[in-house]
Amino acid sequence: MKTLRLILGDQLNIKHSWFKTIDDDVLYCMFEMRQETDYVMHHIQKVIGFFASMRQFCEDLKSKNHQVIYFKINDTDNTQILADNLSKLIERNGIEHFEYLFPDEYRLDEQLSAFCQNLSITSKAISAEHFYTGRKDLGLFFKGKKQYLMENFYRDMRKMHDILMVAGQPEGGKWNYDKSNRNKWKGDVEIPAYKWFKNNVDEVVSDIEKAGIKTIGKFETQTFSYPITRLQALDQLKYFCEHLLVHFGDYQDAMHTEEVYLFHSRLSFAMNLKLISPKDVVQTVLNYYRNHGSHIHISQVEGFIRQIIGWREYMRGMYWAFMPKYKTLNELENHNTLPDFFWTGNTDMNCLKHAITNSLENGYAHHIQRLMITGNYALLTQTNPDEVDAWYLGIYVDAIEWVQLTNTRGMSQYADGGKIATKPYVSSGSYIHKMSNYCDHCHYNKNKKTEDDACPFNSLYWNFLDEKREQLGNNFRMKMMYSLLDKMKASDLEQLKHKAQHIIAHPNEY
Ligand code: FAD
Ligand code: SF4
Repeated sequence: MKTLRLILGDQLNIKHSWFKTIDDDVLYCMFEMRQETDYVMHHIQKVIGFFASMRQFCEDLKSKNHQVIYFKINDTDNTQILADNLSKLIERNGIEHFEYLFPDEYRLDEQLSAFCQNLSITSKAISAEHFYTGRKDLGLFFKGKKQYLMENFYRDMRKMHDILMVAGQPEGGKWNYDKSNRNKWKGDVEIPAYKWFKNNVDEVVSDIEKAGIKTIGKFETQTFSYPITRLQALDQLKYFCEHLLVHFGDYQDAMHTEEVYLFHSRLSFAMNLKLISPKDVVQTVLNYYRNHGSHIHISQVEGFIRQIIGWREYMRGMYWAFMPKYKTLNELENHNTLPDFFWTGNTDMNCLKHAITNSLENGYAHHIQRLMITGNYALLTQTNPDEVDAWYLGIYVDAIEWVQLTNTRGMSQYADGGKIATKPYVSSGSYIHKMSNYCDHCHYNKNKKTEDDACPFNSLYWNFLDEKREQLGNNFRMKMMYSLLDKMKASDLEQLKHKAQHIIAHPNEY
């Protein structure tokens, strides 16, 4: 039966069972489309990375004798709309059966199931064969429970997949070494040079320009530095094991003015496009640790594996458990707009300047920059989560809604009322100083609260707690913060609030 099979831009899994056999009756299709480049304004490097990886994947399939139809962004045949492209190919090629891989995004899932309902030929959707868990597994795991604690899910994953377990107990005696993952990087431990791919993307860049796609961010290196093939992704993973894993956990939360990546793996882009699977990653890290890792402490390995089998799978499960409603949640009723400097980095707040500049220059910021700098600021200034989502979904090369939304709206903005985070991730300047050297070079003084040169995070923090008392005052984990607030002199709080209101009303003056 003549079959058309769709491969989406984030389904580049060459190990998928689809590709095990060559079948002349099977036609694969891949499309670069304006519906994908324009649903949010993306970072230029993100669009480049997707198109370059897709084009390479198409070449790899063809070299293995699979039949592939690929629509580039400026091809005249390209309708720029998924359903229309598919209809065109079905009609033109006498297709009798259509198949696709379950998308990870709700938006595409809806589009494809609606498309199939209107088809006059048969159709089928199958697993993309990437994640450890199925879409619905997490929902079932937490069924009937009041809280959706990641830690419970993570421990279950460790047991179920026998990862870092000895005789039913966690290897090393502890489930979690989070507390030892909080060191500041002071320059004493050398950070190895980065593994930098030099993918030539001239043709992709010129096609994007010709199409007039509107993007944010910069692309100054002229070559794309993240992995765009499975082989490159495996190479990046090997490099991570050999050079970075040894201190991954130690400096996971650290930030520094001169260092963008520290000991982070830079694997999210490759994993989210499915060039490699989380199983590849976890197994390679474990093998390395067993065979060569006598100098590596288990806390580094556990810290890394927790991100993959814990946080990554958990975020996806939460997405599928709560979509589509999740995308509309705004429990803290925040309605302000993001300041202009999120698109320029032009602010005197050094922490924000660095986190935003990294993002604009590299399409990258590591977790704590996303959570405790940009996210913290957006939450303290009570920004509308729709605005925050749009920025995060656009700016990072690894941003795909299933992982961006739950991290941003949930973990970072507490807009889900505490489904993902048991308390809001907010802090004053002292946390930022504890984890970085940003404050040492800042126009503002981290110790001051209301003076002209006072760190804006300080007044914003107390103002936030005061304004959100109704929603957060009864949160057990916020008890200490509220008791400190209660002890504050009314006149001091008034001054802090006055200062915070000025920052919120005039963010671009800071
Ligand atoms: P490393 O620090 O080396 O971590 C290894 C891997 O663990 C990552 O590649 C990633 O696959 C996984 N991981 C770590 N933390 C998380 C997490 N919280 N959720 C899911 N996976 C995780 N990650 C994305 O992949 N896409 C996003 O759009 C995204 N948006 C985020 C938005 C906010 C507000 C926050 C706080 C976090 C977001 N994250 C997102 C999670 C995390 O910041 C990135 O996965 C990480 O920074 C990617 O860099 P890395 O590969 O060097 O990660
Ligand atoms: Fe950021 Fe405040 Fe530190 Fe400046 S002083 S870097 S604004 S936390």
